[in-house]
Amino acid sequence: MLSKSNRYVKEANLIGGQWVAADSGQTFEVNNPASGQIIGTVPFCSKAETRRAIEAASAAFESFKNTTANERAGILRRMHDVMMDNQDALAELLTLEMGKPLAEAKGEIGIGAQYLLWFAEEARRVYGDLVPSPWGDRRIMVRKEPVGVIAAITPWNFPSSMLARKIGPAIAAGCTSVIKPAEQTPYSGLAWGLIADEAGLPEGAMNIITGGASEIGKELCANPQVRKITFTGSTEVGKILMKQAANTVKKVSMELGGNAPFLVFNSADIDKAVEGAIAAKYRNSGQTCVCTNRFYVQSKIYNQFTDRLAEAAENLKVGPGMETGTQQGPLIDDAAIDKVEELVADAIKKGGEVVAGGARHSLGGTFFQPTVIKNAKPKMRFSKEEIFGPVSPVYKFTKEEDAIARANDTIYGLACYFYTQDLGQAFRVMEGLKYGLVGVNEGVITTPEAPFGGMKESGVGTEGGRHGIDEYLDTKYVCIGGLGL
Ligand code: NAP
Repeated sequence: MLSKSNRYVKEANLIGGQWVAADSGQTFEVNNPASGQIIGTVPFCSKAETRRAIEAASAAFESFKNTTANERAGILRRMHDVMMDNQDALAELLTLEMGKPLAEAKGEIGIGAQYLLWFAEEARRVYGDLVPSPWGDRRIMVRKEPVGVIAAITPWNFPSSMLARKIGPAIAAGCTSVIKPAEQTPYSGLAWGLIADEAGLPEGAMNIITGGASEIGKELCANPQVRKITFTGSTEVGKILMKQAANTVKKVSMELGGNAPFLVFNSADIDKAVEGAIAAKYRNSGQTCVCTNRFYVQSKIYNQFTDRLAEAAENLKVGPGMETGTQQGPLIDDAAIDKVEELVADAIKKGGEVVAGGARHSLGGTFFQPTVIKNAKPKMRFSKEEIFGPVSPVYKFTKEEDAIARANDTIYGLACYFYTQDLGQAFRVMEGLKYGLVGVNEGVITTPEAPFGGMKESGVGTEGGRHGIDEYLDTKYVCIGGLGL
């Protein structure tokens, strides 16, 4: 259950600085995936409340856009401090609604706070340009201005840090926001309203709505006062939002699905590759957009790597996220575990050999055993589909160019990883892989300093890095003439 003493538990929506219920009084239940128990209820809002939230954000923008970069950096630094001072309480909330191990939840709060700090620093570096003029009596100036009201829609798998990557640059740039967290994990999203308030963000500069995704999404996309949609979630929903946002020609950033390949070459350091494989696959129970979906291992080391991976997977401690020592929590819901089970059954039917796990865990509910499947083949469903669960298909390859071609044979292009100790090969493979994020001899690479974003159907735009703030800025060219020079 949610602890009554946790001051980051909020069961209301934030509109124009007021915590409110849905107009209809309707609520929806949130459950703990580890136990299936209902942990609380939050408002089920719709179009009318979303419109009011947009109006509040729009009114707040008129003054927020005039704050100085130093003032906004100060707010972000204070938000960082509030998060880190309350890391335990925020992590507990996250684990209870999402299921991930408490240590991972603390890590998520920590990296979210790091994103805020990064953008606090970037706020002060939004430079324009003075461009050499082709006219003697005119001067050319390029300014960067906040786009205005932004709408952020986020998924359940990283319910806190996915918002940090959007809220951080939005505040840094001088934008105001309307946020829609995922239905399964609204508490971590609502907590952002309390964090912002404690840090002194002006009323109306952040608004948070929970409820009907499709109605809220339609209003956010159709309303001309919203100038940007920033979305993290499935490619399917991303496409809907891009189409809807086209009518009012909004800026869009889309962080969508992935199908990450993990290549292990004959020259790889096997210990490091197995360690990286475990982190890149089983973190968050395999429910991250950058989780490895397909392992490709070169023939000479195929058996050795697969056996070692199976052994390491079997040693992972599965349990409720709140239990000390848990390394893999439950899956988010019944639909998720049903899909994982279907993908495993499909692989077995087509000749896959289960060498670790392969079935639901004895803990019941949505717990699944860490699984490794040998003899994976292109015709198996997970070759194309996102697994989003703790299952490692291991494919065998012989030639480097085949491995690259098979790794690229997907509509997605988010993250990929490969292990080799051959420098020339490292460059050839890195250049050949059509992915936005490449880990060379590393299985976990996300950091606020680097741009995060996908190619192909994994998305458009980047979050983090020095480019992250650009997504929240418009460019204005000013020609100053009649100078009589
Ligand atoms: P999802 O079903 O696309 O949902 C994401 C968000 O969109 C939720 O807030 C959801 O609301 C909302 N939504 C659903 N339908 C909508 C609509 N018609 N209009 C407006 N909003 C709508 O994705 P998910 O299952 O939560 O998350 C898993 C997916 O996210 C995976 O594909 C994963 O790869 C991807 N992901 C990508 C990244 C990245 O950075 N590239 C990071 C994390 C996750 P409700 O929850 O209320 O339905």
